[in-house]
Amino acid sequence: AKARFIANNPLSKAQHELAAGALPGGNTRSILHTSPFPLAMKQGKDSYVWDLDNHKYVDFVGELSAGLLGHSHPAIYRTIHHTLTETGLSLGATTTHEHAYAELLCARFRLDRVRMANSGTEANLHALAAARHHTGRRRVVVFSGAYHGAVLSFGDGVAAPNTVDREEFVVVPRYNDLEMARRVIAGVEDLAAVLVEPVQGAGGCIVGGREFLVGVREAAREKGAVFILDEVMTSRLAPRGLGVEMGLEPDLVTLGKYLGGGLAFGAFGGREEVMRVYDPRVAGSLPHSGTFNNNTLVMAVGKTALGEVYTPEVCVEFNKKGDRFRDRLREVANGSRLSVTGKGSLIGLHFTEDGMQEITCGEDVKEKARPDLRDLFWFEMLEAGFWVTKRGFIAMILGTPHEDLGDFVEAVKVFLERHQAILIV
Ligand code: PMP
Repeated sequence: AKARFIANNPLSKAQHELAAGALPGGNTRSILHTSPFPLAMKQGKDSYVWDLDNHKYVDFVGELSAGLLGHSHPAIYRTIHHTLTETGLSLGATTTHEHAYAELLCARFRLDRVRMANSGTEANLHALAAARHHTGRRRVVVFSGAYHGAVLSFGDGVAAPNTVDREEFVVVPRYNDLEMARRVIAGVEDLAAVLVEPVQGAGGCIVGGREFLVGVREAAREKGAVFILDEVMTSRLAPRGLGVEMGLEPDLVTLGKYLGGGLAFGAFGGREEVMRVYDPRVAGSLPHSGTFNNNTLVMAVGKTALGEVYTPEVCVEFNKKGDRFRDRLREVANGSRLSVTGKGSLIGLHFTEDGMQEITCGEDVKEKARPDLRDLFWFEMLEAGFWVTKRGFIAMILGTPHEDLGDFVEAVKVFLERHQAILIV
């Protein structure tokens, strides 16, 4: 499969070699590097992408969940065009667009106050700064497998080497283990915040249990720490985000991805009492900067994305479609080394030695992972015309036709049958 991949993609291979002359490793996003070389895409339209060698794919990467609306949604194009011609890009001043989108975000996600940023990473950094300023404390509890941004990554139970303030983060060794979380949180001195994803996205699309998440919140409250829910990926899963849907009552919520309508975006908000640290009228407040925080284009496009396209009704239907899709994948995977995790329109595919039924944290999967099967699957899905992440993460796109979902289920079935000698447990 790998040899065919190399033979079928000469232009991507050449592009990778050229690009490595200007960019270390040939790109600017580590996650997009794949061996022997990554595919370079040249175009996206609706729910499809085309690579340099002109293969067409059904796009299941969905820009790691930021591409929810697809590559060419007419309402987004219209808003971009209108904003460019009527308003301009970024005005170096506060605008009505900024306020309009803020109102919508507050109403939809039940936030008292919100502030904008350029990415989910920034949203989390500012939320942590708010928590630290509000509590006058420094340390933060996170969970193994968590991804909160480029400089806030906690795979394998440790802070990545490029994590800011590395020594100030305490990592709970297992997600979904409430006993463990309670113990760790109770033992941390100087605790400013507990930061958690309601579904670990990059960590494998692993769903957090309600009891676990509520328990973590209570443990944070007992310590007087700020409970921050990272909904950068999960706000798409319910009309008001998972926090409201699950009754998690976070102090702060961080947002991003599709809420910029496909453009760079981040936001953080929540209780007025905490968000007040960013009110410049209050003595001793924190500065919150960012040249493009309120750029007109993203404010207008984001508002269209959330207000006109991804309405509560659309959100509910879309995630039901995701649940049905996952059920069908689970059905064909039954009895094999493939396990399917996730919620709504976010799906995780895992290859393990015994085809685990219950996956509650990254450590569960890691001990029994079969990266050889995962790689084989990736190469063969590409050949069958499906663009999926190598790690097995699927972020669905709103407009993907039912037939494409059905074809993928069929392709997975064929794959499992073709390799049954190594895939059936
Ligand atoms: N938090 C979560 C849960 C994420 O999934 C991501 C992005 N994958 C981020 C934060 C960071 O967002 P961004 O890439 O926009 O900085």
